[in-house]
Amino acid sequence: MLNQKTVSNTVTINGTGLHNGKKVTINILPALPNSGIQFKRIDIEKNNIITPTVYNVTNATLCTTISNEYGVKVSTIEHLMAALFGLGIDNALIEINNDEVPILDGSAKIFIEKIKTIGIKESNTPIKIISINKKITYKEENKFISIEPSKTNLLIDFEIKYQNSLIGTQRNLVDVYNSNLSEIYDSRTFCLYEDVKKLQDMGLALGGSLDNAIVVKDNEIINIGGLRNEKEFVNHKILDCIGDLFLSGYKVVGKIVCSQGGHKLTNDLLRKVYEDKKNFSLYEIKEKTLSNTLIDKVSLRSIA
Ligand SMILES: [Zn+2]
Repeated sequence: MLNQKTVSNTVTINGTGLHNGKKVTINILPALPNSGIQFKRIDIEKNNIITPTVYNVTNATLCTTISNEYGVKVSTIEHLMAALFGLGIDNALIEINNDEVPILDGSAKIFIEKIKTIGIKESNTPIKIISINKKITYKEENKFISIEPSKTNLLIDFEIKYQNSLIGTQRNLVDVYNSNLSEIYDSRTFCLYEDVKKLQDMGLALGGSLDNAIVVKDNEIINIGGLRNEKEFVNHKILDCIGDLFLSGYKVVGKIVCSQGGHKLTNDLLRKVYEDKKNFSLYEIKEKTLSNTLIDKVSLRSIA
């Protein structure tokens, strides 16, 4: 459980980019221990590798976009990154033939199902953990995010406050390594009906439809079938947060508290954490040489 994992064979997924509206195929390929997650733009011949790191995030307004030093980019990586994090996949090469990851149903559900169908392979190399040593806070206007130490888990306490009365204020707290997160991974992205046209006029959400987003018009959900779970709106924000935290490059041990945050705030917080080495410790977990200061073995088994 505490060893690094990859996919056992190539996972191929076809779909459409939410923002560019273009058809795209990704192949998730097995990769060696310690190689991490890497994207490879196979529609471009050279300088086509992009690593999802905190510092490679070049746009985080509506989705998370990463770019390499040559300006080659991949966007909307967050739901795929959350799926990989949730399945404990530390290493994979993701080939992609366009610049945006497919939106699929707007959640991480299909990524998870497809990867599970192909299977996951465990190595003998221990996983790596970043543990938070002191509380770090980041604020921007009415938005807030913090991360503080926790024993062995990753807790995310997230709140959204919308003027729209159907969405309103929603809050949820999840223990990422010790809970069944299927409601989180199944939760779809959402938007207000009045924003759809604005986005499309800006050349965004061109692939958006009721098949890949919840659309809220006044007090009504336009999608047939309504919500997948009671807290789907805030649960989707937690899903985004998990995906964006994976750009730290590690399994995170800490507690996140966030109000009205999103991709940008999570990235700003991680940048602030990495500013000072005293803010965090990195651990390689070996079952026989566990540091008792980190935690007891029983709890640690869940981190993988
Ligand atoms: Zn999202």
